[in-house]
Amino acid sequence: MHQPAISHLAASDPEIADLVEAEAKRQHDKIRLIASENYVSTAVLEATGTVLTNKYSEGYAGKRYYEGQQFIDPVERLAVQRAKDLFGVDHANVQPYSGSPANLAVYLAFAEPGDTIMGMALPSGGHLTHGWSVSATGKWFRSVQYGVRKDTGRVDLDEVRDLARAERPKVIFCGGTAIPRTIDFPAFAEIAQEVGAVLVADIAHIAGLVAGGAHPSPVGHAQVITTTTHKTLRGPRGAMIMSDAAHAKALDKAVFPGLQGGPHNHTTAAIAVALREASQPAFQDYAHAIVANAKALAEALVERGFDLVSGGTDNHLILVDLGNKGIGGKPAAKALDRAGIELNYNTVPFDPRKPFDPSGIRLGTAAITTRGLGVEQMPQLAAWIDAVVRAADEQDEATVERVAGEVAELLAGYPMPGWA
Ligand SMILES: *Cc1c(COP(=O)(O)O)cnc(C)c1O
Repeated sequence: MHQPAISHLAASDPEIADLVEAEAKRQHDKIRLIASENYVSTAVLEATGTVLTNKYSEGYAGKRYYEGQQFIDPVERLAVQRAKDLFGVDHANVQPYSGSPANLAVYLAFAEPGDTIMGMALPSGGHLTHGWSVSATGKWFRSVQYGVRKDTGRVDLDEVRDLARAERPKVIFCGGTAIPRTIDFPAFAEIAQEVGAVLVADIAHIAGLVAGGAHPSPVGHAQVITTTTHKTLRGPRGAMIMSDAAHAKALDKAVFPGLQGGPHNHTTAAIAVALREASQPAFQDYAHAIVANAKALAEALVERGFDLVSGGTDNHLILVDLGNKGIGGKPAAKALDRAGIELNYNTVPFDPRKPFDPSGIRLGTAAITTRGLGVEQMPQLAAWIDAVVRAADEQDEATVERVAGEVAELLAGYPMPGWA
């Protein structure tokens, strides 16, 4: 059953309640390896489902456009203070609805339409909002994109520097969605400073690792830091923008009234709860365990002949190029899902295949680490992945079913917050 219970929903709208229950069970029954996902605590779930959703609060604490903010202001102040304390930043805005609008607000603050901006190309591991062509950020700005080296699978900072010198972008984004390696914030900062650009570290994927001390912090290097709150940080779906004092005012104005209306106060409360959880010593252990699991899984996959982009991982994320396995990422991901192992097919750098049928799969260990799986389980997980990828190639549905049964057996011993 979903925790907290959804008895009122079940009574008034059984159709939706049944789907929510089914999704909770599905999350319980799967080894969830989607690198951007996690399991939030029951406390975060409860905060998300409160009457704070009823309240309009355009503006910021102490400067609102609606009355009745006696309890909303302290909620938002707590969230802001906790973000500042946890990450060690001068300023935090907790109102962005999600990661993409947070990044849009940054452009709105520091660039005009048509200005040159720079970010990592989507096929190399960047995000849509870092200037990819189909995104508003690629249409409304003059976007120049850097990638990774073919031989190393890593960002070539000499290439970034040359491109920045030639193109003089106003804003440079570092970070991305499929980067298995440590981001060199000091090197990006040097480049941005040289060309007079605002450096934005988009730590959406790694915020929990940064908070837990398992990835270097961009603070002191990037003037602006954006992050989602729902990936490794293990909070509700939402986002934050953090910055030094000098960039604070422009960012606040860009979020409201520049881009958004009323903040989602129930989300703000849940962000505050998640930030408090992330400030506990146990979260440091969690962040390091995520990385230990990813490294152990990467090692076990390499032993089984899998080709990992950049050869391994420094963080929570593994990008596998299935080119040498004779199977595409999509059929592999679909077979793995049937076997109870959930992940996404993903483009790999220099992918010879199409984006809807790419060569890679992307794996992350944030959710399984929350679940309590440890390094001792990673060789077994790699063995299952290996068996199912082979089975997908050979249309061997019996093996897929065997693995599904073994996965269910393992997970029965690992409780999930949100389901009991
Ligand atoms: C997930 C992600 C985003 C966007 O977040 P949404 O909440 O999906 O809009 C932005 N940047 C990076 C690097 C991300 O990984």
